[in-house]
Amino acid sequence: MLKDGRPTRPLPANDSGEPFATFTGSRALEQDEPLIFEMDSPGAVGVDLPTKVAAKTRLGDLARQEKVGLPSLAEPTVVRHYTRISRLNYGIDTGLFPLGSCTMKHNPRLNERMARLPGFADLHPMQPVSTIQGALALMQHLKNWLSVLTGMPGVALPPGAGAHGELCGMMAIKAALNSRGDGEKRRRVLAPASAHGTNPATAAMLGYQVDEIPENDRGRVDLEAFKAMLGEDVAGIMLTNPNTCGVFENDIRAIADAIHDIGGFFYCDGANFNAIVGRVRPGDLGVDAMHINLHKTFSTPHGGGGPGAGPVVFSEALAPFAPIPWIVGDDETGFDLIESSDQGATTSFGRMKGFHGQMGMFTRALTYILSHGSDGLMQASGDAVLAANYVKARLQDVMSAPFGDGPCMHEALFDESFLKDTGITTLDFAKAMIDEGYHPMTMYFPLVVKGAMLIEPTESESKESLDKFIDCLRFLAEEAKNRNVERFQQAPRFAPRRRLDETQAARKPILRWRPNVQELQAAE
Ligand SMILES: *Cc1c(COP(=O)(O)O)cnc(C)c1O
Repeated sequence: MLKDGRPTRPLPANDSGEPFATFTGSRALEQDEPLIFEMDSPGAVGVDLPTKVAAKTRLGDLARQEKVGLPSLAEPTVVRHYTRISRLNYGIDTGLFPLGSCTMKHNPRLNERMARLPGFADLHPMQPVSTIQGALALMQHLKNWLSVLTGMPGVALPPGAGAHGELCGMMAIKAALNSRGDGEKRRRVLAPASAHGTNPATAAMLGYQVDEIPENDRGRVDLEAFKAMLGEDVAGIMLTNPNTCGVFENDIRAIADAIHDIGGFFYCDGANFNAIVGRVRPGDLGVDAMHINLHKTFSTPHGGGGPGAGPVVFSEALAPFAPIPWIVGDDETGFDLIESSDQGATTSFGRMKGFHGQMGMFTRALTYILSHGSDGLMQASGDAVLAANYVKARLQDVMSAPFGDGPCMHEALFDESFLKDTGITTLDFAKAMIDEGYHPMTMYFPLVVKGAMLIEPTESESKESLDKFIDCLRFLAEEAKNRNVERFQQAPRFAPRRRLDETQAARKPILRWRPNVQELQAAE
């Protein structure tokens, strides 16, 4: 039925192991969908274009010789294709999404309404400043809220995601060290073994040597080991708090003091700010720079390839090095943008982005903050922690929690030891969850825990929804204990595709459709 062109296409779900294979490959009203290129029907068109007017080309030898290679399709076919594909999407609007560390937030529809107001949505980044006073006011208000909530005076809005924010924060640290003539000798950055991969990657991108701080048996930084690693060659520490094991770093003040004592800086990965917002101010903990993933704390949509925002907050010491543009002014005087050293930004390390950041995300985040208010934000962080502890408490007897003593923060961490000797892996367990209608939790992260399963329930989940999820995991844990291996190793059975060759997909991704891939591969 398919035309040539996708040798990697895995078997449809019902071709293996299922009693009935349908003729079409569809399952009930969920259609099996080929690639749009595979549906190419030469000659079909969506619109009638006027006949080409003969005109002399000035492209010379730049003119394209081959065909563009786009498929020909009628409009109804295209509409169906994308509608069917959209139905394969799973998101927080479809069901519970327990992806730990990623913090899938519910996006209130009010945010979307505000972000679409033409005065915000239709701005051009090169409009004169006098015509964008409202947008600048919104950005300044967001900065103020982030500053108040974190207890940190400096705020940079431009970074496009958490990882970009890390780079921004570490560039400010580097600039500060350089400005005091210390940049050359401080070549090391310390990060715990449990760190998100973006932390060491950020430090390495800036040319630092990254040294791994060991964890203690409570899932926290080993304070003595950390102190032993300190020296005059250390630029700073990158630490997540609450950390990626889902627990609060109790020694954080001592860690901050120790790094400051040797003249280094404290970069905090603020991805887990949603667990403490309204309750703890990172500025009070001795943090010098921290990014905030707006999408994890203030409910803007997760990138999905689209625009994100990862603002960075700075201590007094680092604020002068913040990237341009700087927004200055207030509601009374009006607002302005400082975009160069000529205008006074002499200490800034430069730019992170062509323009000012993601206006749509700023609008959504500020809407979330203002509609929740300080009490609402406190309730959100409280509910996040409560939900995770509920999950942990109700699963701890059937699954294994490596740092089981004491409560967790906003995510509950389990390991693979409850699957010991069953022949079932963390991966198998996660695939079985897909068959039950749940997106799996984060797997095999953090790396310090073997076969990790990191469950983060969104704080807006109802108790009924959490109970249903917990009951499902209890059932699966029981099935695993009873060695019902097939349920797991054959999963997912009911997804549009069975298991993919994930190694091949990661190592040799085929990202572009070409008509003759099959032949090319045969030739290799
Ligand atoms: C999500 C996350 C990041 C990266 O943030 P992005 O917005 O995805 O770039 C960094 N650190 C931790 C701990 C995270 O959870």
